[in-house]
Amino acid sequence: MSFEQFSFDARIASGIRSAGYTAPTPIQLDAIPYVLAGRDLLGLAQTGTGKTAAFVLPILQNLLNGSSRQPRVLILAPTRELAEQINTTIQDLGKQTRIRSMTIYGGVGKSPQIAGLRRGTDIVVACPGRLLDLMGDRAVDLSRIEVLVLDEADRMCDMGFLPDVRRILSQLPTQRQTLFFSATMPEDIRKLAGEILKKPASVQIGLIAPAKTVSHALYPVASGLKKRLLLATLAQTATGRVLVFTRTKHRARSLAEDLIREGYRAVALQGNMAQNRRQQAIDGFRSGQYDILVATDIASRGIDVTEVSHVINYDIPDTVDAYTHRIGRTGRAEQEGDAFTFVSPEDEPMVRDIERVLGMVLERRYLENFNYGAPIPAASEERRPPRPGRGQPSRRPAQSSNAPRKSSTAKPVPAHNGSKQAETSNATVSDSSTDDKVRRRRFRRRNPRSQA
Ligand code: AMP
Repeated sequence: MSFEQFSFDARIASGIRSAGYTAPTPIQLDAIPYVLAGRDLLGLAQTGTGKTAAFVLPILQNLLNGSSRQPRVLILAPTRELAEQINTTIQDLGKQTRIRSMTIYGGVGKSPQIAGLRRGTDIVVACPGRLLDLMGDRAVDLSRIEVLVLDEADRMCDMGFLPDVRRILSQLPTQRQTLFFSATMPEDIRKLAGEILKKPASVQIGLIAPAKTVSHALYPVASGLKKRLLLATLAQTATGRVLVFTRTKHRARSLAEDLIREGYRAVALQGNMAQNRRQQAIDGFRSGQYDILVATDIASRGIDVTEVSHVINYDIPDTVDAYTHRIGRTGRAEQEGDAFTFVSPEDEPMVRDIERVLGMVLERRYLENFNYGAPIPAASEERRPPRPGRGQPSRRPAQSSNAPRKSSTAKPVPAHNGSKQAETSNATVSDSSTDDKVRRRRFRRRNPRSQA
């Protein structure tokens, strides 16, 4: 199967080639013909399946006919990161076309957005709050919208945007094409889809099940030993880009700082950071300046970084849905990835929920040569201490099912090599210009069993 079957315009075909896509992903195969034909669509697809291009490519194709100074396509997304990512996909795939696209979201100044709208744009990728704001200011005219896309509708609902979305919908032309994407279908989302879609075609890729390319494992550990386990895991595992999830903004920030102190090229991504610091963190992770991104759920929505080799749930997520979304960050577009989840005894109910929904028992792994019986550090900042008498396996398993593999690219780098560390309390930054040899020597000294 190739993209040729869709007979895209040569300018769009060129965008596909320069993005490096050789064959359509399953959701692209299923969805593109419907969108090209102008049908409404209900897409049940998790992130990492190629769903963005599944709607962006046919939208670009259909936009080649006709023009307007007012927006013709409105894409609603729950977070600014996702909005930016969709916009980047549009600009990459539509590079050879003259189709214009812009983002609208809060946390940054309104004026450049208003100026962009005045200059004219074909596509607006927006988060609901700021869009409503600009609609109230009469800075945006949505009367020419031909296509509406709701992306990650379930997440929009989780984040409380449903009333805003409904208000926006009430201002759009009823004669339009609507594309509705969600990873899950809770009742309120099903209801919304039923109300706004007209005779939709449905495509369904991997309903809430995580990408098959991801292998999962649980790492039971007392909560006060998680930091040590993380360091030991990083030292013993061949990792590429690593995404670490924490429960709170504070934990994301302090864990990133700890990793930097240990010599890793790590950066935090959490909701207290200004938008430009968040973008720097994502861009630095994408470009390889950082090997480890320590993020909270909300901040990480929509991060599109291919080749995330490991997702490490330092704290287990609160819902099965969040688990699916987190691990959707690895194993993207058919690449392989590992998802490790640190679990303490108090996490067992959540583990059972995840296993029940996924329909599988997750493997429990213990790290070789890790002292599970070590005293919990007194100054541990862990918020949920293990319950007395629990939280530590009665004996360490004789065999590790996670034998050390080759070297890690997320290696520690010397912590005091003149790098600017912890530039602000929001984002912590380490220098990437470390001499590789010094780094490897130091890494070997610290990890004598590693083959680095
Ligand atoms: P998404 O599910 O839209 O977040 O996409 C996940 C990743 O897959 C993104 O990094 C895309 O650039 C990539 N991708 C999308 N379509 C293809 C394709 N046909 N071939 C290879 N990679 C793709």
